[in-house]
Amino acid sequence: MNADKKIQELQSKIEELESRILYAGEAEKYQEQLEFLTNTALDFLGQTDQSDIFEYIGEKLFELIDDAIVIVNSFDEAAMELHVRYIGGVDGVVDKIVGVLGRQPLQQNVTLTEDAMQKMFESSNKLYLFKGGLHESSDGSIPKPVASTLEDLIHANETYGITFERGGQLYGTATIITKGNSRLEDPKVIEGFIFQCSIALYRKHMEAELRKAKKEAEESDKLKSAFLANMSHEVRTPMNGIMGLAHLLASPDIGSDAQQEYVQLILNSGDVLISLLDDIMDISKIEANQVVAINEDFHLNELIMELQGLFSSELEMKGKKEIQLAHVLSLDDPSSLVNTDRIKIRQILVNLLSNAIKFTDTGRIEFGYRLQQDKSFLFYVSDTGIGISPEKQKSIFERFVQADDTLSRQFGGSGLGLSICKGFVDVLDGKIWVESETGKGANFYFTIPDVNQSGKTAEQPVNQGLKASDRNWEDKTILIVEDDHINYQLLEVVLKRTRVNLLHAVTGMDAVKFCLEQPKIDLVLMDVQLPEMNGFEAIKLIKQSQPTIPIIVQTANSMNEEKTRADEAGCQGFMTKPISLNKFMSEVDKFLQKA
Ligand code: ADP
Repeated sequence: MNADKKIQELQSKIEELESRILYAGEAEKYQEQLEFLTNTALDFLGQTDQSDIFEYIGEKLFELIDDAIVIVNSFDEAAMELHVRYIGGVDGVVDKIVGVLGRQPLQQNVTLTEDAMQKMFESSNKLYLFKGGLHESSDGSIPKPVASTLEDLIHANETYGITFERGGQLYGTATIITKGNSRLEDPKVIEGFIFQCSIALYRKHMEAELRKAKKEAEESDKLKSAFLANMSHEVRTPMNGIMGLAHLLASPDIGSDAQQEYVQLILNSGDVLISLLDDIMDISKIEANQVVAINEDFHLNELIMELQGLFSSELEMKGKKEIQLAHVLSLDDPSSLVNTDRIKIRQILVNLLSNAIKFTDTGRIEFGYRLQQDKSFLFYVSDTGIGISPEKQKSIFERFVQADDTLSRQFGGSGLGLSICKGFVDVLDGKIWVESETGKGANFYFTIPDVNQSGKTAEQPVNQGLKASDRNWEDKTILIVEDDHINYQLLEVVLKRTRVNLLHAVTGMDAVKFCLEQPKIDLVLMDVQLPEMNGFEAIKLIKQSQPTIPIIVQTANSMNEEKTRADEAGCQGFMTKPISLNKFMSEVDKFLQKA
């Protein structure tokens, strides 16, 4: 073998050895990376505190990448901000960085633009090179000259970003700045690690959501039990009154004064029960998203004056005469014309005023409205009563919640009034809140956006206030379609006083027959829950042969869809039972005058 050949052989041996050493080094590195990923995966599983996780991610990333600066940020979705949670690789230059930046880098918050968010999504779990360096990676929040001074200071080479994202949810970002001439090696391992981080953050997020849902379910369960116990009490009290008084009325030797008094007490208890049922219906409609605004033109001043009258009598009835009830009208009568849902605004004010009276023993209750600069109306009810503690002020708008939830509580109530107010205000696009101090009274406020209509005139209610006996309808005929005997009797007693001619149909089919056979019916009062053929079908048939007969639907079901069905069937009026006598008579009067 000549010398050249030997040299050649030796050279190829050296190369083989070198490649083996290189391969062994690669294998060792690969092994290390695998171990790194396995260990961090296990660490993530054991991590319980979400707040430590970003620091852990930073430390591990810093350990993984040689000669680089690592910054880890968490993402605050509500504020659309990145919060710096970890910085590694700046030992020895922190003071200088503070000098250039003007603040501690760890206190840095970056508000994100839509563009930056988009970029974050695009670079989710993938490394992204910021060609514009620190300035670009901070979404412009570090100005260019400041960024380049900082880059010189830390000997920055390339700036990379990567986003932690999972299930469409952003959790944070990492920024990696290589130093000197070094470049980013093994991007796949970094991406693999960040992918693990995203899964761990996602898991923590889901755990927190589950814990929250569980707490809410337990809370709601507790509230429902309290509600049932409370409700049983609220139903039993008036029910006991009604039963006891009915027994007293049945005794033969009862005088007429006592009779009057007992009947009035029974009516009062009935009102309490009906308003409780209304509350339960309202809250279930609100929860089923079935409440819609039904707007009409009306004068706010009239509504306020009506409530002043109503609640002045209420104060008298409750023996709270010494409480002063005042109202403030901030617009003159014509300017107080609005177009909004009168019934809902009235009910909100009624609930707030009832509470003000319930929780106030001395002093003053004031209510009213103000037109604000942004054209919204601000309504308020303020009292000088027991007030509400700050910690209870938020929760009282939730259903079933009462500030005093002890068994020995002094005041009755279902705990639904304020949540109904909130539900209605939401439907009207407004806001409701309370300001209060314990022992010093409460101020409730709600706003309704731009509804002012001044300039137009609202339709005035016809003949309101007239008693049934003041009316004479002897030349008119009304068909009452009602299968319930007591309900029919009630209508008969009221309407007979006007000397009107009454016809009575018990089924939908009979109603259709009456309308075909009787030459002159001026008005039909139609119950809709009827045997054989329901009221809506009957109305359709009647309207086919006699389209001009006015029909008023009366129903115990106050769902919106009933009203829609009545409109679709071609009805002219819609009333929910129980109907106040005055309202009923003026509504009927309106139709008979047109007939
Ligand atoms: P209810 O009055 O039937 O209990 P609400 O939802 O109307 O239910 O009110 C919830 C709770 O808020 C009341 O139980 C009471 O503790 C508190 N609250 C409401 N209005 C007032 C008020 N004007 N003054 C003091 N506390 C009030």
